Amino acid sequence: MYIIMLGAPGTGKGTIGNEICEKYNLTHLATGDIFRDEIKRETPLGKKANEYISKGELVPDEVTIAMVEGKLNEMKDVLLDGFPRTIAQAEALKEYLNKNNKNITAVINLNVPDEDIIKRTSSRVICSNKECGASYNTIFMPPKVEGICDKCGSPLIKRKDDNPETIKERLNVYYKNTQPLIDYYEKEGLLESIDINIYLENTKEVTTEKAIKIIDGRLN
Ligand SMILES: [Zn+2]
Repeated sequence: MYIIMLGAPGTGKGTIGNEICEKYNLTHLATGDIFRDEIKRETPLGKKANEYISKGELVPDEVTIAMVEGKLNEMKDVLLDGFPRTIAQAEALKEYLNKNNKNITAVINLNVPDEDIIKRTSSRVICSNKECGASYNTIFMPPKVEGICDKCGSPLIKRKDDNPETIKERLNVYYKNTQPLIDYYEKEGLLESIDINIYLENTKEVTTEKAIKIIDGRLN
């Protein structure tokens, strides 16, 4: 079973992805983790990827594809997060799956209105103690005492990137890069979009339930 997750930063893609993985016993394959792992182990592909990353450049499609395919060979049921990112990668994935008599079950696309992402992301605070790493949200998940970490008592700080301008920029880059993929999977008949209301008390549960309904519907 292959599920692809799409969603802008701040939509909760990682969280919902984890829930889906748990439900269907899938391996959560995040491209960023593969990169870090290959680089750390200094594999030939890791070294190649690092040449680009260290210069702040994008890793070329063929390197990314080779890395992901290497992982897919070791795994059965996978949720892909961060791959494919380009049409070339999507085409390569399709070819790979065809060759192995496999297919994509669904492409889950999470939609959250921009103003909600900005509101949620810009109210995020994290623990200044790097070993703790707890994160909170002054609107949605406040600490017990304002400005203080529940777990370790260290002061809470804001990440420099979590300001409305930077978030807007990040979203624009994401949409520009992802729209072609959304169109591609729409044409392939695989796209399943979920509109998320972040103001519900149980947003995570409601969204997960919708995703499961979609996946179950496609499995039958
Ligand atoms: Zn802490």
